[in-house]
Amino acid sequence: TGVKETFSFQTEVGQLLDIVAGSLYSNREIFLRELVSNASDACDKLRYEALTNPSLADTVNQFSVSLEIDKKAKTLSVSDNGIGMNHDDLLETLGTIARSGTGAFLNSLKDGKKGDLGLIGQFGVGFYSAFMVSEGVEVLTRKAGEEKSWQWASDGKGEFTIEPGDRDACGTTVVLHLKKDAKEFLEEARVRHIIKTYSDHISFPVLLGEDTLNAASAIWTRAPKDVTEEQHTEFYHHTSHAFDKPWLTLHSRVEGSVSHTSLLYVPSTAPFDLYDAERKSHVKLYVNRVFISENTKGLVPAYLRFLRGVVDSEDLTLNVSREMLQSDPKLAKIKTALSKKVIWALKKEAGKAPQEYVDFWKNFGAILKEGLIEDPSLRDRLLEICRFSSTLNGELTSLSDYVGRCNEGQDAIYYMTGDDAKKISQSPHLEGFKTKGVEVLLLSDHVDEFWLQHITEFEGKTFKSVTRGATDLDKVSGNEEAEGDNDDAVSSALNDLLIAIKMELGGSVKDVRPSKRLTDSPVCLIADDGDMDVNMERLLKQHGQ
Ligand code: ADP
Ligand code: MG
Repeated sequence: TGVKETFSFQTEVGQLLDIVAGSLYSNREIFLRELVSNASDACDKLRYEALTNPSLADTVNQFSVSLEIDKKAKTLSVSDNGIGMNHDDLLETLGTIARSGTGAFLNSLKDGKKGDLGLIGQFGVGFYSAFMVSEGVEVLTRKAGEEKSWQWASDGKGEFTIEPGDRDACGTTVVLHLKKDAKEFLEEARVRHIIKTYSDHISFPVLLGEDTLNAASAIWTRAPKDVTEEQHTEFYHHTSHAFDKPWLTLHSRVEGSVSHTSLLYVPSTAPFDLYDAERKSHVKLYVNRVFISENTKGLVPAYLRFLRGVVDSEDLTLNVSREMLQSDPKLAKIKTALSKKVIWALKKEAGKAPQEYVDFWKNFGAILKEGLIEDPSLRDRLLEICRFSSTLNGELTSLSDYVGRCNEGQDAIYYMTGDDAKKISQSPHLEGFKTKGVEVLLLSDHVDEFWLQHITEFEGKTFKSVTRGATDLDKVSGNEEAEGDNDDAVSSALNDLLIAIKMELGGSVKDVRPSKRLTDSPVCLIADDGDMDVNMERLLKQHGQ
């Protein structure tokens, strides 16, 4: 293809561009953050590729992002010497295929309430923010290791073109032909200020002429006390495509057999892919400042997948594939250290700011509980930081607090599972417990059924479902002493009734027994001690097992 080709933007992309270009958004300066972020990503990618592909070694120079202002031509350009794009990359990533976040972004804008164009980067379509300030955009690019270079161009109105270009080195230059009302971005001082505000944490130098505008050192390599809260927030936004504030920031260095620095953030709102089946981690792995991968398996356990941030270790081996790195035993060591650190920090925070911890728990508790099943070595520590609804009041309780409130003679932690805490709390199974003033945990996350199969006790008390087996409520002292017969001694009249019911129900129940667990309702279904809990049985049926 030696000629200029014209393409239409994919429908949704076209819609997105209409909105972006036509908006009167007041915070348009974020386009620069997005373009610099892409340039930095491109440098990261080439540096990594060059590790495992020796033929690229001579493409790796001093990486940098250069800005150029041309007042006469009224253009602002952003250049990098990173990985670059070939014809097909351009075609796909910049136009004909909608990235997965396109529709989600459009919806968020339609919603009105959450709609903020500034969130564009979070949806993986940050490049298009260039059209907020430009009447035309050109992308001049050459992919590392390839001969040909290309020029992409568009005015954002439905079509774009691709033609051969004449770039002599790999990398990308994005040229913005600024709109009449966007001439402020030709002012050096303005550009300088934007970079300082949004891109200071970029680890490559961002240059304007001879000047480096940013700190250009990876933020996690700085001393924790030298990083301000604003810098953390900007870095968190950049590295995790998020736009909330981090709730917790954990920045630390471990020296030892596997030395590493970690800068981890716990978000204050739940990311939208939290419940995806892939359960991907989002902590970026670096080896000696070289970016390795975004979703390294084996770096962070799945039950901590809400974490964002980076881990950088000089003790891992470079020059091996990502797959080989994943099975490096040193990585497992880092994983254990990180898990402990995070759980410890959460425990500390739960003590220090219990109300905030409840918010954290509401966002991520169900995820964290997966660790009770998957990480036996940290099970006890995890149990300590778990919170549960209970019949006590509307608030969440820790297990220790529950145990502290146990009645005399109560050797079990009673629980009931179901779809939601409110519904469970109205169950007839709880009547006897309520009358006696015995607290019952109300567990409504799917995962609850599963960890309860692995964990039998906490601080010497066994977990016991109120829908299973004998309840032993007689042994527990309560508000009201239980009166009359116990479960075993049954009057003969009652016995006749039980036999009649059993005959009627036949094989559909295993047994019919009298019980003290009920005060208002006449009957309830329970499972035998050795059998599956009632809710568990229901769950498995739903999944066709
Ligand atoms: P995201 O950065 O979240 O992937 P963007 O809309 O910002 O989304 O960018 C879309 C894609 O375009 C990038 O993933 C990348 O493949 C490509 N791209 C954009 N800018 C550059 C660049 N400077 N160098 C190489 N590829 C780029
Ligand atoms: Mg981007």
